Amino acid sequence: SEPIHIIGGGLAGSEAAWQAAEAGCQVIIHEMRGVRGTDAHSTDSFAELVCSNSFRSDDHEQNAVGLLHEEMRRRGSIIMRAADLHKLPAGGALAVDRHGFSAEVTRAIHNHANITVLREEIAGWPPEDWKNVIIASGPLTSPALAEAIMAKTGEDALAFFDAIAPIVHKDSIDMDVVWAQSRYDKAGPGGTGADYLNCPMDRDQYFAFVEALKTAPLHEFKDWENVPYFDGCLPIEVMAERGVETLRHGPMKPVGLTNPRNPTVKCYAIVQLRQDNALGTLWNMVGFQTKMRYGIQSDIFRMIPGLENAQFARLGGLHRNTFLNSPKLLGPDLKLKADPRIRFAGQVTGVEGYVESAACGLITGRLAAADARGESIATPPITTALGALVAHITGGHIEAEGYSGARSFQPMNVNFGLFPEVTVVRPEGAGRWRGNDKTIAKRRAITSRALVDLEAWG
Ligand code: FAD
Repeated sequence: SEPIHIIGGGLAGSEAAWQAAEAGCQVIIHEMRGVRGTDAHSTDSFAELVCSNSFRSDDHEQNAVGLLHEEMRRRGSIIMRAADLHKLPAGGALAVDRHGFSAEVTRAIHNHANITVLREEIAGWPPEDWKNVIIASGPLTSPALAEAIMAKTGEDALAFFDAIAPIVHKDSIDMDVVWAQSRYDKAGPGGTGADYLNCPMDRDQYFAFVEALKTAPLHEFKDWENVPYFDGCLPIEVMAERGVETLRHGPMKPVGLTNPRNPTVKCYAIVQLRQDNALGTLWNMVGFQTKMRYGIQSDIFRMIPGLENAQFARLGGLHRNTFLNSPKLLGPDLKLKADPRIRFAGQVTGVEGYVESAACGLITGRLAAADARGESIATPPITTALGALVAHITGGHIEAEGYSGARSFQPMNVNFGLFPEVTVVRPEGAGRWRGNDKTIAKRRAITSRALVDLEAWG
C-alpha cells in the first residue's frame, strides 16, 4: 500500500510514525535537522525537548495531563515508553533525562523495520503523488513550508513567542543558602520529597528583585511579533509588571516549604530549581521564562539568594510558535479540508506542550494507518483526554455548544475544562461537601470515565 509520509521527527512526528509502523504500515519520515536546524533545537535527535525536561504531572486521577500520559501508555506510545525509561526524580511530575529520552526515541525509530528516515527539508507543498501525509513540523515550521501552508489554506498562520526558562550549573549554586525540598514534601513516583532546590527571599530582597525585573531591558520586537501571551507561560517580567505581589502568587510562591536553617521565619518568596539532566549537574529555574536581554538576565538572577555566583548553561529566551486556525481548516478526522491527503499533528495544530503534541501524533498516526489499510476508525471519544484534545483543535466544542464561531482559536494544554461535565453525588450520610472534596470527586469521575471509554477506541 501507499507509504505514509510524515514531515517532522519531533514529538508528534515520532509518535505518529511509531503508531503507523506498529500498525504494519510503511512510513517515511522527512526530518530536516541534520541538514537544516531550527532556532530552538540543538541536536538532530528525534523528539528533542527544546526547553523544560518535564512532562508535567503524572497523576492520572487528579490531573488532566497525567490522564493523557496514562491513555498514551495504554495505546503503546513510544514517547511515554521512552519517558518512563528515562525519568528523573521530580515530585509528582514526570521529568526526564532529555538526552537519554531522545536517544531512546531515535533508536526506536531507526530500528523499526517499517520506518525509513530521510534527512531533508520539505520546502513546499507535499508532492501530488504522496497520498497519505502528516505534517508535524512543529512551532518552528521552516519558513518555506509555512509559506506553502499559508498559500494552500489562504489563512494567515498565527505566530507568537514562547518564553523559555534559564538553566543553572549545580556546582555554581550556593548549597549553604538553598535547601532541597519538594512542595509539601510530596514525593511522587521515583521522588524523594526533596527533589527541588529552593532559594529563600525576604521581603526586601523580593521587592528589589521585582523592581529590577520591571526596569530590565527587553529583546526588541517587531510589530508583527507583538502578539498576546499565552497565560500559562507568561514571562516573569510581564508578571512583575502586573503587580508587585503577582510573582509571589505564581512561580515564587513560598507555600509548602520550610527553610531548615531558619524554620521559624516564613520566607516572603521562594525561587525553585528543578533537576534538568540525569547527572544532576544542571537545574532549571521553575517558571522563569523571560524575554529579558541576555546580559541583564545573569545580573538580575544573581540577586537571588543562593544564585549570587550562578553560571548559566542556558539563559531564558523567546521563540516563535506557528499554529493553524485548526477549527476552521481541519475536518473532524484532522484532515485538511482544502487537501484531504494531508493531516496535521502536534503543536502546529494548536495543541500546546510536549505531551499534547505527542498525543496528537498518536491519534493521527492511527488515523493515517487506518486509511492506508482501507479501514476507517473514529477519533477517540470526547470523554477521553485524547478525544478532548481533538475536540479542541477541530472545534468539536464549538459545535457541541452551538457556538457561532466568533471565538478566536488559541493553543491550549489539556485541561479538565475540555471534558464534558460529570455530575457527582455526595457519599451517603456525608454532610455538605468540604474543602476541595467536590473538585476531587469530579476529577476522579472524569478520569475514571476516560479510562473506561478509552477501551472502545483503538
Ligand atoms: P517539534 O518537536 O518541534 O518537531 C517538529 C519537527 O519538524 C522538528 O524536528 C523540525 O526540525 C521539523 N521540521 C520543521 N519544518 C520542517 C520541514 N519543512 N521539513 C522537514 N522537517 C521540518 N512544551 C512543553 O511541554 N514544555 C516546554 O518547556 C516547552 N518549551 C518550548 C520552548 C520553545 C522554544 C518552543 C518553540 C516550544 C516549546 N514547547 C514546550 C512547545 C512544544 O511542546 C514543543 O515545541 C514540542 O516540541 C512540539 O512538538 P512537535 O512535534 O509539534 O514539534
